[in-house]
Amino acid sequence: AQLRHLSARAAPIGARFILLLADDRTDEIRLEGVRRDFVANVSHELKTPIGAVTLLADAIDAAADEPERVRAFANRLMVEAARLGALTQELIDLSRVQDDDPLDDPERVQVDAVVDRAIDAVRVAAEAKRIRISTRVVDAATVLGDESMLVMALHNLVANAVQYSPEGSHVGVGARLNGDLVEVSVTDKGVGIAPADADRVFERFYRVDPARSRVTGGTGLGLSITKHIAVSHGGEVQLWSKPGQGSTFTLRLPVAQPEAQGAA
Ligand code: ADP
Repeated sequence: AQLRHLSARAAPIGARFILLLADDRTDEIRLEGVRRDFVANVSHELKTPIGAVTLLADAIDAAADEPERVRAFANRLMVEAARLGALTQELIDLSRVQDDDPLDDPERVQVDAVVDRAIDAVRVAAEAKRIRISTRVVDAATVLGDESMLVMALHNLVANAVQYSPEGSHVGVGARLNGDLVEVSVTDKGVGIAPADADRVFERFYRVDPARSRVTGGTGLGLSITKHIAVSHGGEVQLWSKPGQGSTFTLRLPVAQPEAQGAA
């Protein structure tokens, strides 16, 4: 009787165990699919600039006697090389942040410093389009994290705001406290994003308009990097947008607790 009792108890445990295994297996299959898609995407993204570099090198060779044409081809070659460089850098950045694991060794980071550094990094691009960037940091806040990652996360948002806005437009960057979160928002008056694309823009390599994005040099990785950085900091990134009117991206991060008085 004791044996029967044991096996009766074992059955549901066994079933649960099998269920768990099945779950693991589904995860494994899903991850394998994600990995395969990722490799296919990377290969596809690399093929275009590599093909262009090869063609342009041939063209330079063929135009050797015509310095004007050589110069024009060489300029385009540099653009493609820069695109390859940017893509490689973003892949490296993505590989650093995509596990979403909490950071090992977070430091105290001043949000206003992150805002300043992110804006500094897009100043040249903004000036080239006569775009004015204004900042409004209402509350001084400190978060726990990695300053260079947070600058990267915000820089991607500000760079996009400049990229997807018309010449002479205005971009606003603000930071304010909301409960125990600090909200850093980037608002533009650019092309905006349709509701159907709003969730998808955070996916790796997703671009609303791939043809246009290719011309402007976008890789489709920036927002996914920003999202992973937000998550690994215990936060999130939200999007509000009206097509044709503009977008607001908001990075919401938990505020660091004040350091205990007298702490070493
Ligand atoms: P990309 O390198 O193409 O800019 P992102 O991951 O940064 O890649 O953005 C994904 C897509 O989301 C972009 O291709 C663009 O279509 C759209 N997008 C991002 N930011 C904005 C914005 N501020 N305004 C309009 N569209 C945007």
